[in-house]
Amino acid sequence: MTTVGILGGGQLARMLALSGAPLGLRFLVMDSAADACAGQFAPMVVGDYRDTAALAEFASRIDVATFDFENVPSESAQWLSERVPVFPSPRALATAQDRLAEKTLFVELGIPVPPFAAIASREDLDAALARIGTPAILKTRRLGYDGKGQFRIRSSEDAGAAWTALGAQATTVGLILEGFVAFQRELSVVAMRGRDGEFRAWPLTENWHVDGVLSASLAPAMADAALVETAHGHARKLADALDYVGVFALELFCRDGVLLANELAPRVHNSGHWTIEGAETSQFENHLRAVLGLPLGATRVLGHACMLNWIGSMPDANAVLREAGGHWHDYGKDPRKGRKVGHATLRADSPDQLAEALRRVGEALGRGEQVAPVIERLRG
Ligand code: AMP
Repeated sequence: MTTVGILGGGQLARMLALSGAPLGLRFLVMDSAADACAGQFAPMVVGDYRDTAALAEFASRIDVATFDFENVPSESAQWLSERVPVFPSPRALATAQDRLAEKTLFVELGIPVPPFAAIASREDLDAALARIGTPAILKTRRLGYDGKGQFRIRSSEDAGAAWTALGAQATTVGLILEGFVAFQRELSVVAMRGRDGEFRAWPLTENWHVDGVLSASLAPAMADAALVETAHGHARKLADALDYVGVFALELFCRDGVLLANELAPRVHNSGHWTIEGAETSQFENHLRAVLGLPLGATRVLGHACMLNWIGSMPDANAVLREAGGHWHDYGKDPRKGRKVGHATLRADSPDQLAEALRRVGEALGRGEQVAPVIERLRG
């Protein structure tokens, strides 16, 4: 019996554990919160990632370790990797944790990125703003997620406010300034690389964010074959360069047909949740197959799928369950403002049928705004 250890016990760990049950796998989750929602399906070690005694107990009970959370301290990942196999490797994790290291790697690999600069002082910020121009975004290099740790600079007069908001973090997690991309679309590639180097990717996904948090995903994205090939090429280069093992997501901005890389998420990703019902093999099962060295599953899509995130609280399930291709995921979390508490996936055989299902669900739940951009894209 193989036990997979997962650092982080949120909904990603929960969906990994659910997808691993048919494979006969056992799981052990480590999280500092005793009520982490993966704990409803898997035994837990409750402890801080820096607590060596807790990590040692975790290591002693598992065969292989992976992550639901990318901000695990790299020293903890390293410590663990000296005791059990850890995938993705601590090196890949460390690169993806740092926006500056990851953007530098993108550039080295010839993957286009928005203009960026490392910021260590207020003088650096002024100089970078003079070079990059406005609008721009000041971001923390580490520990930012879902739009947190970011300040939008609309004109150079905002520089002082940006520095007041984030300047203190220049010497702790570090800062990076990025040019603001006036993109037409946000896309992501969810892909995987096996222990033997085999690479596979799902088709491109189009994503819509509200206040920096994912709101809806459509797959396959309405994109021509050349764009998909370019995106997959970027993902493959990255995975090879990092000797990556497991599933990851590469987030991209699309402006005038050009793809610019935003960030690499070294784990299963919210923009891949649609693969549970919308693809031959889900990102969760394939991540487990990759880290265990099993044959990778097919990434073929089954029609057209849209995932809607539920943020803050769960709406009424019936509107989705009533749909022929409607699937409901409640993460078993307490409602809280801004918290991802669940999602729904609608699947259909044609773009038109998917648009109709979305219209019905949006209307029944009073969420017309959430579904509108997806319907518009589907009706092209
Ligand atoms: P991130 O945490 O970097 O994924 O940012 C969250 C969201 O903020 C992205 O999905 C975009 O919608 C927006 N965003 C981040 N960086 C940029 C940028 N350089 N230009 C335009 N929008 C951005």
